[in-house]
Amino acid sequence: MTKFPIYMDYHATTPLDPRVLDSMMPYFTEDFGNAASIDHIFGNRASQAVEGARKSIARHIGARAEEEIIFTSGATESNNLAIVGVANMYKDKGNHIITCTTEHHAVLDVIKHLTSQGFETTILPVDKYGQVELDSLKEAITDRTILISIMTANNEIGTIHPVEQIGKVAQEHDILFHTDATQAVGHIPMNVQQMNIHLMSFSAHKLCGPKGVGALYVRRRYPRVKLSPIFFGGGHERGFRSGTLNVPGIIGFATALDIAIKEMDTEQGRLFSWTEQMLRQFQKNMEGIERNGHPILKLAHNLNVFVPGIEAKALILELKNIVAISAGSACTSSTVEPSHVIRALGYDEVRSHNSVRFGLGRWTTDEEVQQVTASFVEAVKTICSRFGKSRVTVE
Ligand code: PMP
Repeated sequence: MTKFPIYMDYHATTPLDPRVLDSMMPYFTEDFGNAASIDHIFGNRASQAVEGARKSIARHIGARAEEEIIFTSGATESNNLAIVGVANMYKDKGNHIITCTTEHHAVLDVIKHLTSQGFETTILPVDKYGQVELDSLKEAITDRTILISIMTANNEIGTIHPVEQIGKVAQEHDILFHTDATQAVGHIPMNVQQMNIHLMSFSAHKLCGPKGVGALYVRRRYPRVKLSPIFFGGGHERGFRSGTLNVPGIIGFATALDIAIKEMDTEQGRLFSWTEQMLRQFQKNMEGIERNGHPILKLAHNLNVFVPGIEAKALILELKNIVAISAGSACTSSTVEPSHVIRALGYDEVRSHNSVRFGLGRWTTDEEVQQVTASFVEAVKTICSRFGKSRVTVE
């Protein structure tokens, strides 16, 4: 039996996997110790569990050592620490940072802040699919460039950047490379060494883990990356991030990543065929529907479509009892600003207002996909008839 409304907003956040919750429970109750209080058994147990989790997460992203994982409160904090931390640490070497137009606000707003502090920034354009072009990246590099920050996969359109090649360019020019991999880790294979990544942000709640816990991978060798901390206090996490560790969250994060990696192939295969099926059905039943983003180099669970003539907000409202979908990234959907990502693809403001994002996930069922597909077509038809348009040609 399908339960309504159906959840299809997995890019915003994901439900917690019950197996993850099980692994976290003891660390709320009997093993509640502070992981820094290692002089007694309570702290010791917590510390050991955290170190086990650190090791496991490091292994899953191809890190050389577990010390390269710094736990944070989420990807927003990881991005802040990576970018501000590098900017302040390496400012004597240079003051130029490169990023791109389709980044999340947790990167773009940090860059804006640094610009106000006197740093120079280049915000690269993307092509019509949302990918950065390597030639424009190379052209933007100066002898003052200290950091390139390009996301792995976009949270609105799902496009995956050529991360490995970007990392190679960074390495050739002796520049640090940070990637916001919040939407990618646990969904596509990530290997920080193979992909030439020096710093990588990711977050548990995007992979069926708990909210409020994230990580920053910070390379320790070839090269050894240094960071100025943004928090000061007890000197936790090698001095990079002071603050008592969220032990249950960290354990849940490691379990969630473990499950995501083990189930990645089957899960991603299933989700890719569903999102493609939805697009085919939409295009068969409605005129003018177009995909936003890359047709192949994309997250399997993402589908972002342009519906000509209909505002995304109207569709979301019409469907609110059937399905939870989004008009753009969750962080900006409370404002009426058009999506900066769709605009960056070269489309006008209208297209950015008329685009809807579906995010499928672990608990999506075939029944739900069929239901949402049919209801979406029906909703477009209803809105069209309300406004006297006849966009829908076939039922
Ligand atoms: N970067 C990207 C690409 C994201 O999608 C998000 C979450 N919407 C964030 C950063 C922020 O992550 P968190 O919620 O863990 O702070």
